[in-house]
Amino acid sequence: MNDRLVPEHEAKVSVFDHGLLYGDGVFEGIRSYAGKVFRLEAHLDRLFASARAICLEIPLSKAAVAQAVVETLAANQLADGYVRLLVTRGAGGLGLDPTKTSHPQVIVIADTISLYPREFYDQGLRIVTAATQRTQSAALSPRIKSLNYLNNIMAKLEGLQAGCVEALMLNHKGEVAECTGDNIFVVRSGRLLTPPSDAGILEGITRGAVMELAAAAGIDCREQALVRHDLYTGDECFLTGTAAEVIPVVEIDGRRIGAGVPGPVTKQLTEAFHGLVTR
Ligand code: PMP
Repeated sequence: MNDRLVPEHEAKVSVFDHGLLYGDGVFEGIRSYAGKVFRLEAHLDRLFASARAICLEIPLSKAAVAQAVVETLAANQLADGYVRLLVTRGAGGLGLDPTKTSHPQVIVIADTISLYPREFYDQGLRIVTAATQRTQSAALSPRIKSLNYLNNIMAKLEGLQAGCVEALMLNHKGEVAECTGDNIFVVRSGRLLTPPSDAGILEGITRGAVMELAAAAGIDCREQALVRHDLYTGDECFLTGTAAEVIPVVEIDGRRIGAGVPGPVTKQLTEAFHGLVTR
């Protein structure tokens, strides 16, 4: 916490911290594989951009935050680990006013990674569309990875109530945005399609990596506005995220996608992604 290694029971924030009171802060979820942090630069760039967008000054340099991430993993002897990096607005009054806060808290939590069961990858996920729309950019940009995740949590609850671990979120125009904690891709006639940033998505680091891998493999990949019909009638569908990596989707809203099993392009990109993280 704040550039100091402390045991878990000493890692405490004030009840007056606006991160707790209002979800006023930003965060990242980061993986390390075999002792190497995956795309740390990209995560730090997104963290600092999110902070800039909410007028939050991170009191450490990018280099110092990077070092804190590496050192916290090492102190916990985690070669394959998960890091939750967050910056809260800090303690202030009980009013909203962020100018009446002081000392943003920079917190790095290192933990083991909890993975989806193997069969989800082998058989693919069933997902449903949530009635809860993705927050509009005009209300709060989904490009900001803020501590205010209630929008996604409401959609996640809808998914869980339908027996699904992920749920599809549409934007206010009814277009496909993303899932509650993952980006979405569809394969149509050998081409990869994914919603663009202005569809109201968080620009995932894994999404970026998969787009690069597709380009390297000669798979045409386009960012394009999509509606549910495009997913229902696609050949394959998969999600990407730091925790999930690349995970196939075989059913959406009761419609079987393609052959109803993880498809060849999904498998190819999953393998390529594993190659990337273990390199
Ligand atoms: N969308 C949302 C809403 C998310 O919370 C996440 C997870 N951070 C993602 C997409 C995937 O992003 P990444 O690949 O950077 O983990």
